[in-house]
Amino acid sequence: MTKQFNLPRGTADIFPDDATRWQDIEAKARNLFALYGFREIRTPLFEETELFARSMGQTSDVVQKQMLNLAAQGEGGESSGFSLRPEGTASVVRAYVQNSLDKKESRSKFFYVGPMFRGERPQKGRLRQFHQIGAEVIGPGTTSPFLDAEMIELAVHLLTKSGVKALTVKINSLGTPEDKKNFSAVLRQALEPYTKELCADCQSRLSRNVFRVLDCKKKTCQAVVDRLPLKYDHLSPESRDYFDKVKEALRMREVAFVEEPRLVRGLDYYTHTVFEISSSSLGSQDALGAGGRYNNLVQELGGHEVDAVGFALGIERIILATEGETGKEPVGLDAFIVPLGEAAMKEAFGLLPTLRNAGIAVDISYRWDASLKSQMRQADKTGAKAVLILGENELAMKSVAVKDMASGDQEVIPFAQLVGYLTKK
Ligand code: AMP
Repeated sequence: MTKQFNLPRGTADIFPDDATRWQDIEAKARNLFALYGFREIRTPLFEETELFARSMGQTSDVVQKQMLNLAAQGEGGESSGFSLRPEGTASVVRAYVQNSLDKKESRSKFFYVGPMFRGERPQKGRLRQFHQIGAEVIGPGTTSPFLDAEMIELAVHLLTKSGVKALTVKINSLGTPEDKKNFSAVLRQALEPYTKELCADCQSRLSRNVFRVLDCKKKTCQAVVDRLPLKYDHLSPESRDYFDKVKEALRMREVAFVEEPRLVRGLDYYTHTVFEISSSSLGSQDALGAGGRYNNLVQELGGHEVDAVGFALGIERIILATEGETGKEPVGLDAFIVPLGEAAMKEAFGLLPTLRNAGIAVDISYRWDASLKSQMRQADKTGAKAVLILGENELAMKSVAVKDMASGDQEVIPFAQLVGYLTKK
């Protein structure tokens, strides 16, 4: 037997019955983004590998272990090679810098919807190709606790609009880059006595990037982290004031949240506000989405001093957290044509565009040489409201026999009146 192919591990086929739910979530997101003044950006699915290494941090887990690299396709040796995008922010910022958008608009509000790729070990809720709905606000001098709070509120709004009920918003502040340095020193000191209890990865993280110890999923490491007396001592008074204002703004918009001093997010680019939204209805992969402020990334990627804040939500996780919710019923066929004989097929072939141009959803059995019975069976399976039978007699009368599939009634309708007859139905 010839080899059959299976889909790659960690990916999924989304068939039409499920696609309606995806369309539903995406349509709701698009509507909401428009209400908040966001416009869509579409960037390539792959970029220079170095872009991701520079933005997410060379030592991040994603860059170290999960990049899906493409076979070297660099031109003239100028590129470090390409990788499928593991997230959206790096590409959006690359596009922002490349097009000098800071000179063209005071503030850019982008949203995106699309696939992301990470070479992870697949499990429930964790795929190698997954999909995100994300948003970024980028612009000089746009650091505002109101904006940070509004981004969190928007993420929550998107999730609740999609039907997610039980969700938890965790927030934290990393402060300025200076505060972050203090925080890493405090953390390193606090973790030092427990070095031996940490996994090998975390032991090397201690010197390379101590924040990632807090993100480690291993039970032993989490037990150590749970014992750390983390507070907000590393924050400067200004950063603390900023964080207080974010919380106040969240209360004003009635967004429930919990403060989580252990929430650091594994990526280098975050400053000030970080947040994560999870759902108790998900299993071990309980994060629905996450984000935060990243004021240094634009500069890091060759741009000017420009502030930014953003988030990304996982569509598969939204679907898992709202199991049972279905999308809108797809619009079915209004009619299905059954031609009997080649001359009827030719006539019907010309009729199709006339009907479709009039807004009638119509399909046809191309098997004009098959029996009426077998073509009717095919028509029945499509769920079309009416079947248009075109046999020799009908052809001679320049008419079709229209069978109403619900009532079983049949009427002969001249070609010239067909559009009017079907639109009335
Ligand atoms: P992250 O940038 O890793 O925080 O991802 C943001 C969101 O995307 C997560 O909260 C998940 O909802 C989703 N996500 C991330 N990685 C995966 C994955 N491998 N499979 C499915 N969803 C994912």
